[in-house]
Amino acid sequence: MDMRKIDYLLIGQGTAGSLLAWQLMQKGCRVLVVDDGRPSSSRVAAGICNPVTGRKLTRTWLADELFPYLHDFYRNLERELDTSFFHPVPLYRPYQSIEEQNFFIAQTANPLLQDYVRLSASDRAYASLIHNELGGLETLQAAWVDLPVMLDALRGRFREAGALAEDSFSWDDVIREEDSVTWKDIRARKIISCEGAYARFGPYFGWLPWAVVKGEILSVDWPGQSLPGIVNQSIWIQPHKDGTFRVGSTYEWDDLDWEPTEKGRTYLEGKLTKLTKLPFEIQCHVAGIRPATQGRRPFAGLHPEYTPIGIFNGLGSKGTSLAPFLSRQLADFLTEGKELHPDANIERFHSLYFSSLKS
Ligand SMILES: Cc1cc2nc3c(=O)[nH]c(=O)nc-3n(C[C@H](O)[C@H](O)[C@H](O)COP(=O)(O)OP(=O)(O)OC[C@H]3O[C@@H](n4cnc5c(N)ncnc54)[C@H](O)[C@@H]3O)c2cc1C
Repeated sequence: MDMRKIDYLLIGQGTAGSLLAWQLMQKGCRVLVVDDGRPSSSRVAAGICNPVTGRKLTRTWLADELFPYLHDFYRNLERELDTSFFHPVPLYRPYQSIEEQNFFIAQTANPLLQDYVRLSASDRAYASLIHNELGGLETLQAAWVDLPVMLDALRGRFREAGALAEDSFSWDDVIREEDSVTWKDIRARKIISCEGAYARFGPYFGWLPWAVVKGEILSVDWPGQSLPGIVNQSIWIQPHKDGTFRVGSTYEWDDLDWEPTEKGRTYLEGKLTKLTKLPFEIQCHVAGIRPATQGRRPFAGLHPEYTPIGIFNGLGSKGTSLAPFLSRQLADFLTEGKELHPDANIERFHSLYFSSLKS
């Protein structure tokens, strides 16, 4: 059989696999992405990028690096793909109480948050739809990415470049060699698992500390209504297309399937009814599994024992913010041996792997 020789075989065309493939191709590498179109977290996600989270207004991990990078990255990618999917918008947080109002207002003077939060000057623009009697805070540098549009455009580009195999992948078909792997008629220098939540069932990365979490989202209609940004108050409301909004999301650690549930719908409906002023109609209800990790940091790097095998995963609930910067880091690591961020590099868990061999 004639072998096709490539540099990197990537399994999965979600956000992780797509952006890593793109970065590697920009460096001139020969890449093949394998994806069979099974349910994916990226195709369910709202794609929100939020640099400041929680009731304490905590700056997200690596925010100062991730956010400037992602804005440039997605804008460039839109230009390269001649498609629109990146939507920088403020994220509006209506105050829930006088105490929260005082705390948030005080935080606008916090030097660590100055690039990220400001008092909203648009309270009135939200007031037709949202209860915001106490006003609200705006998070800056926020955005949402229309992931299905971006992923479809990338898929088309990979297909044109002969860099896509629309096929099911099984690790049973992989033959490991000293410095390469073979899958079917492909020989690759490295194979990188970008399988999202499915990776925890595979033979090479099950030992990593996964903590995957199911999430559900509603699409609702408020004909004629609009919002200048994403609203966030325990749930979020994301203006999507004219008069359509996405509402999410839930967190469920136990019943880990890809099906929407009555419990998820009831929870989101209840929160939405409290936060908004107008009746709404639910158009659609979807669920997905976030590839989250204990410790909430991603998984990137090479297998402790079989170094032609690597992983880019563990993006949890922040894949849209993390993937641009980390895919670049991983591409630099793979092609130039540059250092990966130590909190992302799976080297930090190598001892777990070796102890798993003993048990
Ligand atoms: C309800 C919900 C809301 C979310 N909201 C946000 C948000 O607002 N902002 C944000 O940043 N993140 C959000 N996320 C998280 C986000 O979806 C993930 O961080 C990110 O999409 C993970 O991307 P991934 O590529 O690692 O995995 P996935 O997107 O799951 O991609 C894995 C890919 O691998 C393919 N695959 C797997 N196994 C095989 C195989 N054996 N053969 C062939 N193909 C295979 C699958 O088809 C899939 O395409 C949300 C997630 C959920 C569920």
